[in-house]
Parts: sequence; C-alpha cells; structure tokens
Amino acid sequence: MRIPLLAGNWKMYKTVTEAVEFVRGLKEALAGVQGVEVAVCPPFTALYAVARELEGSNIVLGAQNMHRAEEGAYTGEISPVMLKEIGCRYVILGHSERRQYFGESDEDVNAKVKAALKHGLVPIVCVGERLEEREAGHTERVVGAQVRRSLAGLSGTELAGLVVAYEPVWAIGTGRTASPEDAQQVNAFIRCLLAEMGGQEAARQVRIQYGGSVKPENAAELLGQPDIDGALVGGASLKVDSFGAIVRAA
Ligand code: PEP
Repeated sequence: MRIPLLAGNWKMYKTVTEAVEFVRGLKEALAGVQGVEVAVCPPFTALYAVARELEGSNIVLGAQNMHRAEEGAYTGEISPVMLKEIGCRYVILGHSERRQYFGESDEDVNAKVKAALKHGLVPIVCVGERLEEREAGHTERVVGAQVRRSLAGLSGTELAGLVVAYEPVWAIGTGRTASPEDAQQVNAFIRCLLAEMGGQEAARQVRIQYGGSVKPENAAELLGQPDIDGALVGGASLKVDSFGAIVRAA
C-alpha cells in the first residue's frame, strides 16, 4: 500500500514571517488528517524556522533543490548535509524550472539524486514533457529518457524509496491540467519503466506523483487514479484553504 504524498512547492514565495504564519494555519487545518503524508517545501531562508514550527506535527519538511557536493567553494549553494541537519526529509530535484532557467540536465539530476540518497534525504525527482513534445506524440519518449537518465545506476531498493513527480511542463503554473486519464497513462508508463530498471517490487513500492495546476476542484479525480500516489502542488499550496482541501481530497 503506497501512502500518497502531498507536497507543496512554494517556489520563491513567502518570507520567514509569512512561512511561519502559514504553517501555523496549516497545522490547525490538517490536525487529525490520516492516511496521507504532507510535506511543505519553503525557500531555503525559511527552512530553519519552519522546521522548528513543524516539530511534533504530522507535516514534514522538504527543500526545493540542493548541490550535489557535501561542502565546497560553491558560492550561493546549499548541500545535502545542511538540508539533513536542518530537518528536511524530502528534496525536490530536477524541477522543470531548474531545468529551464538554470540549465540542469538529467546528468546533474542523477548526481544530486545519488547525493541526496547518500545523506538520507528522499528525492522527489521531477520529469515531464513540453507542450510541443506532447503535441508531436513524444511524451513517453521524452519522459522515459528523463527517468532512465535521472535515475541511472540506482538499485531496486533505492528506486523503491524515492518519489517521482510527473509534471507536464505545459501544465505547471498555467491553470491547464492533464486529464486524469492522460496523467494516469504516463504515471503507469513510468511505473513500467521503473520495473524494468529496478524490478517489480521496486515499481510496486515507488510513489509517483502528478503535478501541474492541481487545485481543490481537480484533485480528487487526479488522486483517484491507480498510479497517481499524491501530488506536487505549486500555486495552490500557498494558501492554507486550497492546500488543505487538496490534502483532504487525497
Ligand atoms: C510545481 O511547481 O511543481 C507545480 C506543479 O506548480 P503549479 O501547481 O502551480 O502548476
């Protein structure tokens, strides 16, 4: 039985004060919720304060990115060791905005995934096709290549323990969502591929989220699909009401 993971990717939103105020409200809104795992992924500056605020709650912490090295002369970067110490359980890797604006390749993502696992962080590895790739009928080819390269060299046990987020690029922040059937089809395809890479047991255990304009109105149908094990939520995770409603829909 896979426990759905609802993760809020705050991107570059919320100061420390706003972040702490938000999680106070979220804790109240989600008190007593069971059967799902909830994570918030604030900007780096708010991680420490949010970690303190989440102590003893049923909400866990994630980061939005990290460097592959443990430490070093990499101005402006944050290492897996730092994230682990601060209390992060998850780290989002290879988000399409990192790929698009910061030139991250599948090879970069692969190195980061290995570093995260080495330090006891659970990677949420993002993959997804662009609009022109979907329209040209290349979704599975593109997503398949991203999965193979980003997760190359991992054992079945490592694959079983991580999270993959299928996020069609054309659905992120656009208000346009993949239909539940289309999202299910790609998630099932990813699971098949992971079975080839790491065995049936790993594929059965790995959680594969959907992300891309998930909101309270479409969450239940998307999350009701057999191969959709939760959601990575951007815009709608910034308000307690909408994120809380999505969690409850799961
Ligand atoms: C995201 O940033 O991962 C995302 C899915 O954003 P949104 O929900 O706003 O489309």
